[in-house]
Amino acid sequence: MSKCRLHIARSDYELLWHHLYQEDRDEHGAILLAGLSELDTIPLLTVREVHLAKDGIDYVAGKIGHRALTPQFIHRLITRARDERLVYLAVHNHGSDRQVGFSDIDLRSHERGYPALLQIAKGMPVGALVLGQRAMQADLWMPDGSRRELDQASVIGMKIDRLAPHLSRNLGSMDDQYDRQIRMFGREGQQTLSRAHIAVVGLGGIGSLLVEYLARLGVGHFTLVDDDAVEASNLARLIGASQSDAENRTPKVQLARRLIQQANPSAHIEHFNADVAKASVADRLKGCDYIFLAADSMRARLVVNALVHQYLIPAVQLGSKVRADEQGQVIDAFSAIRPLRPGVGCLWCNQLIDPNLLAKEAKTDAERKAQAYGVEEPNPSVISLNAVSAGHAVNDFLMDYLGLRADRPLHYQHINALTGKLQLVEPRHDVDCPECSKGGMRFARGDGADLPCTEG
Ligand SMILES: [Zn+2]
Ligand SMILES: [Zn+2]
Repeated sequence: MSKCRLHIARSDYELLWHHLYQEDRDEHGAILLAGLSELDTIPLLTVREVHLAKDGIDYVAGKIGHRALTPQFIHRLITRARDERLVYLAVHNHGSDRQVGFSDIDLRSHERGYPALLQIAKGMPVGALVLGQRAMQADLWMPDGSRRELDQASVIGMKIDRLAPHLSRNLGSMDDQYDRQIRMFGREGQQTLSRAHIAVVGLGGIGSLLVEYLARLGVGHFTLVDDDAVEASNLARLIGASQSDAENRTPKVQLARRLIQQANPSAHIEHFNADVAKASVADRLKGCDYIFLAADSMRARLVVNALVHQYLIPAVQLGSKVRADEQGQVIDAFSAIRPLRPGVGCLWCNQLIDPNLLAKEAKTDAERKAQAYGVEEPNPSVISLNAVSAGHAVNDFLMDYLGLRADRPLHYQHINALTGKLQLVEPRHDVDCPECSKGGMRFARGDGADLPCTEG
């Protein structure tokens, strides 16, 4: 059967899980409402609302099955799904652990009920999820009458877990190349890396280090975005760049592609020598498992921030900054690693998207001169400060994506090169932020909201 995917924020998954797995060890129910997106023909469901069914009120002894959602509860939420253009998903649990599937009774009840729900939903899919303690299966009914089962669900906290209907035991053969790291991640972890689809936005100093590290680790799928070309002043920081790249103005994405191919010839690479704010480019990022943001434009921050909250994709924003006073004395030098997760770490909430700079970026060079913005002095930049950001960010990715450590609160990390100190900054969260708050215009809406992009 064809497949679908699901993304859910960890806080929502935990709320659901603890409702389903109570001390009575019985069956419990809920309804999720999810945004819908299209990833090359595969539907992606992003959970926006969790409605727990109260036992004895919304979830009662069934006529045929063990228990069932009441018609009133179903009606209230299928009409809400229709009005909000969200996907209706009825949820219950089985007692199993690492594998789960619908029973014949479950499937017969879908066949009795879902054709009518599809009519009410007016063009949106409807369906069901069944959970095991560490597994999930879906039966999604599409408006065209086809049905989809679950390929993979991702639970997105700082830590990222993947759930499937059953545990895959097919680990295949693995290269000696990865022997030393398999001793750390296990063969399952190495396979997870080979299947991971990673986007790197910005392939300058930090981005070129990121692709070098990720490709050597064995990441199997890359999407690369940068609209810039190599020039002589980059050679002190760009891994793999030569004098002839500067002379020929090699696009930075081409250089990154070359680095990846050398390190991992079997990697699949998609690259865009274009601005990430172009709608057709941003659209290719919504299918990624993780985004590294190493571009310094406000536009790139705006778009990646929106992707995180709208499609529930984990990301990290990276940078390094050096400031000198008028006498040339260095007064500040630090590397920043700022994780972004659905509903937390938002760059708007933390004033890391400057509307004035955003407006200025939208102008052409000629307009900027005419309006006396002046010519921009380039910022200082040094390869070893970049390496601190890139190295920390890739370590965090490995720990969190391969489940090598427990979930933890989200902090920005600032590593100061003058003092050697690591500062953990608790990011702000504006409960009314339209970009990241759960009731806002963007959270988990998927293709149902517009990304802040330009045409093309
Ligand atoms: Zn069941
Ligand atoms: Zn926000």
